Amino acid sequence: MHIVLISTPIGFLGSGKGGGVELTLNSLVSGLLSLGHSVDVIAPGNSKLHKGNEKAKLHFVEGEDQISWQHQNYNSPVTIPDNSLLAGMLEKGLDIAKQADVLLNMSFDWLPIWMTLNLEIPIAHIISMGSESSVISNLISKVYSKHPYNFAFHSKIQADDYPFIKKPIIIGNGFKLDNYTFQDSVKGSLAWVGRVAPEKGLEDAVYVANKLGEKLKVWGVKEDETYASKIEKSFPKGTIDWMGFLSTNELQKELGKCRVLLNTPKWNEAYGNVVVEALACGVPVIAYKRGGPSEIIQHGQTGYLANPDDKKNMLSYVEIIEKIERKKCREWVEKNASTDIFANKVVNWLNKVKHEY
Ligand code: UDP
Repeated sequence: MHIVLISTPIGFLGSGKGGGVELTLNSLVSGLLSLGHSVDVIAPGNSKLHKGNEKAKLHFVEGEDQISWQHQNYNSPVTIPDNSLLAGMLEKGLDIAKQADVLLNMSFDWLPIWMTLNLEIPIAHIISMGSESSVISNLISKVYSKHPYNFAFHSKIQADDYPFIKKPIIIGNGFKLDNYTFQDSVKGSLAWVGRVAPEKGLEDAVYVANKLGEKLKVWGVKEDETYASKIEKSFPKGTIDWMGFLSTNELQKELGKCRVLLNTPKWNEAYGNVVVEALACGVPVIAYKRGGPSEIIQHGQTGYLANPDDKKNMLSYVEIIEKIERKKCREWVEKNASTDIFANKVVNWLNKVKHEY
């Protein structure tokens, strides 16, 4: 197949602003190339693809970012800025897709989904969030009634946020295992990885670290500086060890040294890339039992699922984390979330989209 991918209109690939979509896109490109498909990627200027993905053609578009939907009200209207990056990426993508089999949209926004109704080229959408906007959810509902194959979701629990989707196509996610080294470091620090923003609930993980009298190592972009400094001020100085935003290679080296990853989402996390990345390094994960992580973590085998928002319950699981065999964490990723497994699911889905069109 010849597939044209549209990246997120929030930050260039490598900036961290696009969250998990940046890694998902790279994993997908890697899997598609290894299966022999041809790939064009439309992305903001300065974007970089991961090493090994050089065979994909990268096309740059300049323009103004969209505002992320998780930081707007549920009933906010759609805003399209002057010199819109998203519109520019779509224009370029549509042009290139004239020679391709399918246009694959990885942005979570209104415009590309609306275009599905009006096009000669099949457009498939990987929906990367739960229902965060009424205008988008209503549009998905409308398009789904005409093109039920054109949407795929990362987890079943994410798709449940869209109750009108009767038979969701679930593609999971994929990780290039060579990029993650297994480490058997049972005595390491407590870790937390993610965009530092309210929906990620960092404060609960800091609470756990503070109760244990330990530091919490935190990796990720400080998307919301005010939120970050508010948390910092509510705990004893030095409880948070800010480690910054690292490339996958640097991150996995450091993360693998930790004894557990705490994952504290306050929203219906679509998947939770950082959960699988930790597991790939052999690091067990304790997460709240909500959203994607609750489908990924095997309670008692690869980590623990704590009652949502119950910090004390999370703390009690940290105290028994040495019961988890780190090898089992890595094994789960090998069996369930490699780039090949992911790309195969996506290709099967895209073939359906193409033939039903
Ligand atoms: N990440 C990274 N370096 C860091 C911290 C995070 O590359 O120092 C990446 C991580 O690999 C993951 C993404 O940030 O792919 C966060 O994705 P996730 O699905 O966990 O959450 P999202 O941001 O999409 O809500």
